[in-house]
Amino acid sequence: MPRDSMLNNEDTVLNEWGQICNQLKDEVGEKAFDSWLKPLSIGTFANGIMNICVPTRFMRNWVITNYSDRIHKIWEKKNPAIKTINFVVQASEDPMFIGHNSSCRSLLKKIAGSPAPQSVHLDEDTALVNDVEYSTIGDHGESLSVPLNPQYTFDNFVVGKTNEFAYAAARKVAESDNIPFNPLFLYSGVGLGKTHLMHAIAWRIKQRNPHKNIVYLSAEKFMYKFVRALRYKDTAAFKEQFRSVDVLMVDDVQFMGGKDSTQEEFFYTFNSLIEEGRQIIISADKSPSDLEGIEARLRSRLGCGLVADIHPTDFELRVGILQEKAKQLNCDLPLQVAEFLAQKITTNIRELEGALRRVVAHAQLLPGKEISVETTQDILKDMLRSYDRRTTIDEIQKKVAEYFNISVKEMQSSRRARTVARPRQIAMYLAKQLTSRSLPEIGRKFDRDHTTVMHAVRKIEELLTEDKSLIESINNLRRSLES
Ligand code: ADP
Ligand code: MG
Repeated sequence: MPRDSMLNNEDTVLNEWGQICNQLKDEVGEKAFDSWLKPLSIGTFANGIMNICVPTRFMRNWVITNYSDRIHKIWEKKNPAIKTINFVVQASEDPMFIGHNSSCRSLLKKIAGSPAPQSVHLDEDTALVNDVEYSTIGDHGESLSVPLNPQYTFDNFVVGKTNEFAYAAARKVAESDNIPFNPLFLYSGVGLGKTHLMHAIAWRIKQRNPHKNIVYLSAEKFMYKFVRALRYKDTAAFKEQFRSVDVLMVDDVQFMGGKDSTQEEFFYTFNSLIEEGRQIIISADKSPSDLEGIEARLRSRLGCGLVADIHPTDFELRVGILQEKAKQLNCDLPLQVAEFLAQKITTNIRELEGALRRVVAHAQLLPGKEISVETTQDILKDMLRSYDRRTTIDEIQKKVAEYFNISVKEMQSSRRARTVARPRQIAMYLAKQLTSRSLPEIGRKFDRDHTTVMHAVRKIEELLTEDKSLIESINNLRRSLES
């Protein structure tokens, strides 16, 4: 088995680590150093992959977020043989420097017996593990990729009717040895699990094949890196970074809207990777054809693999997710409380999770006080009030139809008579003003596309500058909807 010749003895690595620690101490100050970096210890090194032991899961997350990039940079400069740094949760008094296989296997055994059992993958004789206990930075993609969230795995993803298709597609990509569809394009509103699924794919591919070079980054980061490369006239190096990528994941591509040169570069990268048979996974808040400010040729390329959307959650899924998250937080959540929260907080999973965290934190701070619907109501008073106030498009349609003496059916129909068309435009305008729904979402409620909604909003805005009776109607409607 090939070992990195520069670093095949313990002393060299320990020496370098000592120097790095001194440098970091100067950079971050003694206090932060003592709290976060001093407890780290050197683990194994093989095939360019350095494992650093961290005593707790919490500390590992903190170190990854705050110091991993810096550690990677300094070390890489000192020793180019270091390609990847993993942070491994392991008691610091038992650091393991692994120079041969038997000790690798003892590390594996330890992890296999640890409380977060994942199918541990033993990669032939290299014996390197990649499971959720590990978070990889750097990699062959160097600082291109950002760290993966260890909680975002398939095991932690609750599947329901609204996300089962996207889940199945993600799973297929992660489990296949060939490329089932390219690109996989995931889309949904915010906080519904796109990023979670992408990280889950990355973890699973890494677990199955630790040597695959997976790059996960946000569209914003892609843009930032590209603009910086332009500024430093270093686009060749930028392109080079993508050449060895096996799986490229770009999150939230809607942020490339209107950024023409970035799109062009992305288009180039995208095409060349697809041609070479590398897997690409993209996420966005809209379907490829609805992406605003994205060039037509890119939109059409993005949609030419499999497009999978995640729908807004339903009640059942919300209850399921709350139960799963409560379990992760070690909290006994009564079913009534889960149902209460699932009924009240319908926007997205991120907000649902935020509410649960608040409830659990209170309960843990005041042991002995049971979590009940009443205590939950009390803890989330302000939050729930703001949810109650949130207006829905259905309510708007109902109120506006009543106000103008037409039926909701007529409002959603294709009739174009002024008596129906104007109230319809007003309802679309109010939906844009009073809810956080996107134009396509509003359009769907009226059986129209987003351009019709855009036109309606503009029309009403224009009329509002002169039409006094319209101003009055809108004010009345607004008051009654917000009361
Ligand atoms: P998006 O990228 O679509 O905005 P995220 O993937 O960031 O959404 O998800 C928001 C939060 O909700 C994350 O904490 C994620 O773990 C959680 N989440 C989303 N979908 C699920 C699911 N089906 N099961 C468990 N957690 C989920
Ligand atoms: Mg996301």
